[in-house]
Amino acid sequence: MNSPFLKEFNNPDRYQFETVNCYSCNSDQYSFFLKGEEDLTGKEGEFQYVKCSNCEMVYQNPRIALDQIKEFYDGEYIAHRKKKNWGILTPLYEWTMNKHDRDKEKIVAKHVVLNKQTEVLDVGCAVGTFLLHINKKHDVQISGVDFKEGLEYPDFNKIEFYEGLFYEQNIAENRYDVVTMWHFLEHCYDPNKSLQMAKKVLKKGGKLIIEVPRLDSFTFKLFGKKWPGVQAPQHTVLYDKKAFISMMEKNGFKVTTYLPYGAFPPYFYIFAGSYFKTIGKNLNLNRIIFPYFLGQLILTPMLWFQKYLNLSMQTVVCEKIEN
Ligand SMILES: [Zn+2]
Repeated sequence: MNSPFLKEFNNPDRYQFETVNCYSCNSDQYSFFLKGEEDLTGKEGEFQYVKCSNCEMVYQNPRIALDQIKEFYDGEYIAHRKKKNWGILTPLYEWTMNKHDRDKEKIVAKHVVLNKQTEVLDVGCAVGTFLLHINKKHDVQISGVDFKEGLEYPDFNKIEFYEGLFYEQNIAENRYDVVTMWHFLEHCYDPNKSLQMAKKVLKKGGKLIIEVPRLDSFTFKLFGKKWPGVQAPQHTVLYDKKAFISMMEKNGFKVTTYLPYGAFPPYFYIFAGSYFKTIGKNLNLNRIIFPYFLGQLILTPMLWFQKYLNLSMQTVVCEKIEN
């Protein structure tokens, strides 16, 4: 059998790979783009990203089989999320995590009327802190989808929770005013199906808000294959602005706003990319939390202007224009 890899890659024998056509135009013609690794946790494997010869979308091909990707989601970052005691940095850590949810809420509130009647669905909601925050602030109705239930987070039971793949859920059509996907789509094995599902459950005129890492950004230029946005093998697609917008349009959405930033802190990409490039893999928050916040302090003047610098993220606000 011919290897589906264009170059020599080292992977454990037990990994199973499958070839996949371009998610945007379905072409099977491509060229090598980069070799990605799991720098965040240091799990083994080398993963190939290719560029579609037809539409230039960058995606992982071949990709690891769906039932094997699960071991890369071992709850490590959710565990971090639940950790409460960071010593004297605890208030700073909590402020940072809460700020992430506040920034998501700000983006949503700018584009959608939020009140007691508003129905919000967050796809890839994890422990649901964003939903709980937006509910507390605007009294909106909250639903979430993710793989793991019973995350034992306070007030998690306030969320109408759907467990499993988004597009396999039994959710009423034309129900939601807004669907959010914060760092979900770049992980998705079938982004077209997920976007179609979002269209189905949104009301006509409803808003779909999606944030993903941005390939044509400053931090990718700086770090290349060590860019934290590569995060292989979890990231199936590395979207640049053009590919991101065309995926939305292809699936029948009207992109009403494009933002060259998101709620996710670009400083994390600057820190993690520097770490991967100079020190190595396996970013253990327990060990690096002091240098992390020190670096953030030093870069504060630059970070004031982060919305204008195209550092790492992108967000689209789309409208459902058809049924
Ligand atoms: Zn393509």
